[in-house]
Amino acid sequence: MGEVTKVTIWNEFRHERENEHIASVYPNGIHQALSDALKGRGFVTRTATLDEPSHGLTDDVLNDTDVLIWWGHKAHHEVQDEVVERVVKRVWQGMGLIVLHSGHFSKVFKRLMGTSCDLRWREEDEKERLWVVNPAHPIAEGLPAYFELPQEETYGEHFDIPTPDEIVFVSWFSGGDVFRSGCTYTRGKGKIFYFRPGHETYPTYHDSNVQQVISNAVRWAKPGQSPEISYGHSQALESK
Ligand code: ZN
Repeated sequence: MGEVTKVTIWNEFRHERENEHIASVYPNGIHQALSDALKGRGFVTRTATLDEPSHGLTDDVLNDTDVLIWWGHKAHHEVQDEVVERVVKRVWQGMGLIVLHSGHFSKVFKRLMGTSCDLRWREEDEKERLWVVNPAHPIAEGLPAYFELPQEETYGEHFDIPTPDEIVFVSWFSGGDVFRSGCTYTRGKGKIFYFRPGHETYPTYHDSNVQQVISNAVRWAKPGQSPEISYGHSQALESK
């Protein structure tokens, strides 16, 4: 085992406080469910939510974060641009980022992708089957060839993202749609993983395969010993 990996789980934390059914699925919020799952797998976690000052994402917190997990949905527009820029800059510097489900429309993800990040969706309690399409990838470690979530929100292509560096999962839904549900990117020195499942009305983040994916992704996205990069004017290394 190497040194500890510090994970910050950011959650909008509005649905769970406003809707009785969702509160029953995630009594302490999606962030706490993810935190418990990751703690159980050996990670050091902290949580941050929208309604905290600076959304809980101060420079001190971000500088002490190896991997940031992001769940947001109905209040993307309330996330301050200043905080978005702070997160983006930390990703460029090497902080890992895992964007979950409706986080596809977060300011942070759209800013890092540079596309609309739009998609097709419906809430009809369809079954989702996630196929591992990249079995050698570290994010697929320990998983079966496919796994199923009995009920989820459906997302469908086209998903307007830049062509991913790697696709780890493709989802099929019982309504007939398919979706690139596990996509990797790098931006600057930072590694980014988008993972689709996790609509707030379903117990998706209590599923052990989903927890395995997220913990694999944390391990994959944590910063390594990457070279120090400097930009701007630079001296010649050879004399002419
Ligand atoms: Zn959703």
